[in-house]
Amino acid sequence: RRFKELALHPTILENIVKLDYKEPTPIQQHATPLLFAGYDILACAQTGSGKTAAFLTPIFSKMLSKPSKIASQNQPGDKLAKATPLALIILPTRELGIQMYDAARTFAYKTRLRPVVIYGGHEMKYQKEQLARGCDILIATPGRLIDAMERCLVSLAKVKYVILDEADRILDMGFESSIRRILTASDMSKGEELQTALFSATFPSNVQVLARDFLKEDYIRVR
Ligand code: AMP
Repeated sequence: RRFKELALHPTILENIVKLDYKEPTPIQQHATPLLFAGYDILACAQTGSGKTAAFLTPIFSKMLSKPSKIASQNQPGDKLAKATPLALIILPTRELGIQMYDAARTFAYKTRLRPVVIYGGHEMKYQKEQLARGCDILIATPGRLIDAMERCLVSLAKVKYVILDEADRILDMGFESSIRRILTASDMSKGEELQTALFSATFPSNVQVLARDFLKEDYIRVR
């Protein structure tokens, strides 16, 4: 299938054209339509496979098809505003967070979608301001996300899409309990309300257990 046949939002498609992507990569061929259709997936994908576009483009397209839900543009200077993202992308490191943020900005170009990235090892002040200005797509490392939740800078009550990127590395770095805490946070949507995708380069048993615990029973495994 070609990009035009993946049912993406026209502005997202334009942004892909600008990047000069000619054909969807295999992970885009397989994962993008499933995510668009609403399935939970467990996807095997290495860095360089095109996995970033494989999940950002269908999720952004779905968010744009319900513009009334893109409500998080807080008033500038509204210091008490909490970020209420619709999509949450969790990844293991600051570097991956910055890369994901750049990709999200590229795909969200000329849309109202506003991505924000937060990660540890960096003072909270700037990230706090970014969150207070509104956030549709939150890209976060696990520890900093919990920190932001505890400080009431972020509410997960409106999250409809969760992506765990590089799940094997997230677990290798000792973030399993953080991930479980985030995904079971009391304000997080549950069940049918939520679509979850887990991307991983390898499938050790801890990744499989995470998939069993947090993906819907009819999740689809994508190779
Ligand atoms: P990723 O695996 O998501 O980190 O992507 C690896 C690189 O491939 C990035 O530089 C992307 O911009 C690029 N890329 C992703 N999808 C395509 C595509 N369909 N055609 C050409 N390049 C792509």
